[in-house]
Amino acid sequence: MKFISTNGLAKAVDLQSALLAGLAPDSGLYLPEEMEALPQGTFDSCETLPQTARLLLNRFFVGDPLVMDLGEICDESLNLETPMVLIAKDTHVLELFHGPTAAFKDYGARFLANTLGRMRVPGSSARPLTILVATSGDTGSAVAAAFHRRPGFRVVILYPEAGVSKRQAHQLGCFGDNILTLRVPSGFDRCQALVKQAFADVALRDLVPLSSANSISLGRLLPQTTYYAFASLQHFRATAKPLSFIVPTGNLGNGVAALMARRMGLPIDRVLFATNHNRTVPEFIETGDYRARPSVRTLANAMDVGDPSNVARLRFMMAEDPTLRGAVAAVSVDDETIRARIHEGETKYQRIFCPHTACAVEVLERERRAGSDAALCVVATAHPAKFEEVVEPVAGHVVAPPPSLRDMLARPSMSEPLEPDYASLKERLLRL
Ligand SMILES: *Cc1c(COP(=O)(O)O)cnc(C)c1O
Repeated sequence: MKFISTNGLAKAVDLQSALLAGLAPDSGLYLPEEMEALPQGTFDSCETLPQTARLLLNRFFVGDPLVMDLGEICDESLNLETPMVLIAKDTHVLELFHGPTAAFKDYGARFLANTLGRMRVPGSSARPLTILVATSGDTGSAVAAAFHRRPGFRVVILYPEAGVSKRQAHQLGCFGDNILTLRVPSGFDRCQALVKQAFADVALRDLVPLSSANSISLGRLLPQTTYYAFASLQHFRATAKPLSFIVPTGNLGNGVAALMARRMGLPIDRVLFATNHNRTVPEFIETGDYRARPSVRTLANAMDVGDPSNVARLRFMMAEDPTLRGAVAAVSVDDETIRARIHEGETKYQRIFCPHTACAVEVLERERRAGSDAALCVVATAHPAKFEEVVEPVAGHVVAPPPSLRDMLARPSMSEPLEPDYASLKERLLRL
């Protein structure tokens, strides 16, 4: 299959070009040229997430040599426990935090690493490909875990020193080997700008081959459609009813993935986006006007985005399918309400939610108060123990980390300081 740019000016490209490119030459984002519904019964024999993923993603890989590897890529990347737990009548939580770094970004990062690792173009041990990422917390560790000790690759992470939780910082620095972690005394926006400047530096890229792994990457977006497919099919088999998802979202990567799964004919009814106090997306959905603004810091820090890049994909899909508007809504949730939902979750559902998931829980409560008796599924994007500084004071007790996170926290952690200017980053990359 070919992939087209949301700006409509660049020509359609094949899968591998779209995976490597990040942005299209016309500054648009790549989307599959076709996402028609799959025939009824396609998934009848599927029992696991990797099996479902193979069938769902096959069409995108047809015509590319990678199609031969798709089964293995799915088996090696998506073999993560992905339980959907019933917490009240017709109310579910889809737990996407059982991967190595305890956040849903593991799905995308592992798939991307396994895909790039099978392509001919990328690096060799003599001249490794450098994956350069700016992270607001969770992307960096997921990408590091996915590429750790993978021959032909190295990862350089930039993170805002004061913008991540203590455990996130520890996790970012605990890999070593082919992973270099740089802490920057600035905000996330500055880290992101430095990374962009490196990608625009042709002379540097001649000497240090670079690739990105940010949230616009098609190699992260495609696998994120698979857990929506898997969960909605499971629900449909049990109840013969479609399922609606409530997705905590910032850059809209996870939100757009849910819409893509819906577009491909999976039994998904509505998709509700839950954002934190950054309200660009709810405002856009409500008024149709897109107004980017500087991001504000909130308790749900992985969603502190004021100008979400994946809006380009949302607009494109809405223009193509006018019925989509009726199936999508978005709600902004403030910090006080995040705390209240975490607090209440313990008694009401016997669960501790991470601050991002708590935004989705607020949307759930509003739907129920408005009288909805639809089947609703809250998407849990991270384990609460990753955000202990927020969650523990509200809960009033310690939240134990899951085993993989505990292991990472037990390892030593190392990061280097980096001045927030481009000359320093360039000098460090040339010294790799
Ligand atoms: C990254 C992240 C999000 C937001 O994901 P998007 O792809 O930007 O929608 C939500 N929750 C957690 C825990 C995250 O790490």
